Amino acid sequence: MENCIFCKIASGEIPCDKIYEDKDFLVFLDIKPVSDGHLLIIPKKHIVWMQEADDTIISNIFILTKKIMLALKKSLPCDYVQESVVGNEIPHFHIHLIPRYLSDNFPNLPTKEYKEEQTKKLIEKITLAL
Ligand SMILES: [Zn+2]
Repeated sequence: MENCIFCKIASGEIPCDKIYEDKDFLVFLDIKPVSDGHLLIIPKKHIVWMQEADDTIISNIFILTKKIMLALKKSLPCDYVQESVVGNEIPHFHIHLIPRYLSDNFPNLPTKEYKEEQTKKLIEKITLAL
């Protein structure tokens, strides 16, 4: 995919600080880390949203994610590893792995309260789409 920075990284056109690579996936350091060891895991194939990936890619990327999470936990003094799939910054499916510390006090995402009956309607809507 032209003009996709992650495709260019996957093809080697743009260099990266590589941690792991196989025929389908690439793992590298995020250039703007939230903490030391913040990694990105990407499929080499251009896929915009996670739900557009085939089931084999999904299964394998999460098996690889677990492997890398274990390596982060083993190699760094972090308390846990946050895994997140955000997807709105770069239009190429990627997983963030962020070493976290119980003392880091990063802000949580903003939350809200549901109004009465709103939950029932939401559950109906979503379950109908399953
Ligand atoms: Zn891409």
